[in-house]
Amino acid sequence: MVTAVIVGSGPNGLAAAVRLAQEGVDVTVLEGSDRPGGGTRTSELTLPGLLHDECAAFHPVGVVSPFLTSLGLGRFGLKWRWPEIDLAHPLDDGRAVLLTRDMERTTASVGVDADAWRRLFAPIAADFDKLVHEVLRPMAHVPRHPVALIRFGANALLPATWTARRWKGDPARAAFMGIAAHAFGRLDTPLSGSVGLMLTAAGHAVGWPVAAGGTQSISTAMIRLLESLGGTVRTGVTVTSLEHVRELTGSAPDIVMLDTAPDAAVRIVGGQLPVRVRRALTRYRYGPAVHKVDFAIDGDVPWTNEDCRRAGALHLGGTAEEVVAVEGATARGTMPVRPFVLVGQQYLADPSRSAGPNNPLWAYAHVPHGYAGDATKAVVDQIERFAPGFRDRIVATRARTATQTAAYNPNYVGGDISAGANTARQIVLRPRLALNPYALDVPGVYLCSSATPPGGGVHGMCGANAADAALSWLRR
Ligand SMILES: Cc1cc2nc3c(=O)[nH]c(=O)nc-3n(C[C@H](O)[C@H](O)[C@H](O)COP(=O)(O)OP(=O)(O)OC[C@H]3O[C@@H](n4cnc5c(N)ncnc54)[C@H](O)[C@@H]3O)c2cc1C
Repeated sequence: MVTAVIVGSGPNGLAAAVRLAQEGVDVTVLEGSDRPGGGTRTSELTLPGLLHDECAAFHPVGVVSPFLTSLGLGRFGLKWRWPEIDLAHPLDDGRAVLLTRDMERTTASVGVDADAWRRLFAPIAADFDKLVHEVLRPMAHVPRHPVALIRFGANALLPATWTARRWKGDPARAAFMGIAAHAFGRLDTPLSGSVGLMLTAAGHAVGWPVAAGGTQSISTAMIRLLESLGGTVRTGVTVTSLEHVRELTGSAPDIVMLDTAPDAAVRIVGGQLPVRVRRALTRYRYGPAVHKVDFAIDGDVPWTNEDCRRAGALHLGGTAEEVVAVEGATARGTMPVRPFVLVGQQYLADPSRSAGPNNPLWAYAHVPHGYAGDATKAVVDQIERFAPGFRDRIVATRARTATQTAAYNPNYVGGDISAGANTARQIVLRPRLALNPYALDVPGVYLCSSATPPGGGVHGMCGANAADAALSWLRR
């Protein structure tokens, strides 16, 4: 029987494990942490009974991921929940843009730019299911939906700042820039609008749902499925080398899949890595980081804009110009006074996460790579800016700096939750220039983390694509 060891149990490691187990491979997952799931864990971080997503919260791509949807994870307990408004971007004057699956509701909130917004996003949203099949794969493939891909690609190539020139008013420009900021980094470089286009179109096409019971439910369902296929997950085992894998499992597996950052892959594969692969992975760049803050709050956040009180996610960064400036600063290594902040009110869609009068509030700020400072006050100040009185609702706070984020999960090098900077080069060629970006050019050894195409997020596509590459190699 073919055997495989997966190092790391994030959504990509689990996706690789499931894909291989589906083909009859005997799979063992080795996870360094004492809990599986990587960026999908959910915990009681503040008060008993309050469920906080430790990392990922919203799943606009996960809900349509071709691999995850093919698994029927509902049978293993996964349920999606949608807030009334998927995302809100409030402005200082009390207005807010509302991203929802109802295009008319969104366009009403962008005012003067309603038609221009609809012209850009309606066709991309209409093609969204075709588009995900194209963009969630490595670059080098024959497109099945060339028209959808070209329409998206023509806009995706542009810097986010150029795309924003289509709109005259602050609301549309600010909202798009806030969504584009999910790419972490400069917004005036080629391809910097691609993530924004994709996530905005997703908002219109499928929304930004959360997982009932917390994001952990996604990995729990994947593990149940894996176990039903005969696979196993061992926790509390940090793999240091391929020799270590052999010691831990008693024999050399046919396949090793690394759900790790490229720097860890270099350490684990060591001297067996061809020099050109080692050089490429060593040159791989990591991006800005997050400072995560979880709050227990009494009741709800007193947002100035009433609609924000019904939004799952919120982007706090003011105008487009402000977002561009602070994202540029964090990319250069400067901590802004008012960083870009994301807030999650998952409990609105999933009340099972709350306890009594208290609700869990999820937030993080974009901060420079490796930033060791405490940005908690900056996060509170940004929320207070759009919700005066917020401070008085805080019952408990739990913060994790960028350096603590890196210690929490070694894939988040320097606190970079994308396992690699989303520069134009690394959006297209991740982690290196190669026809098969998953292969490490050591027989049977593959990289399957979000440092490979299609990059960050809980969609499992990096793992599934990498497993397919390994299966093709086995069949040669
Ligand atoms: C604060 C925050 C907010 C986020 N928000 C979202 C969101 O809303 N939506 C979204 O889609 N994504 C979000 N993400 C990103 C998402 O969590 C990641 O893109 C995703 O988890 C990547 O999956 P992965 O399997 O590649 O790696 P990970 O989930 O990072 O898993 C890697 C696993 O490998 C283990 N590991 C690493 N090295 C070793 C080793 N040597 N030996 C054994 N085990 C090892 C780690 O412990 C970890 O468990 C967020 C992340 C953070 C931190």
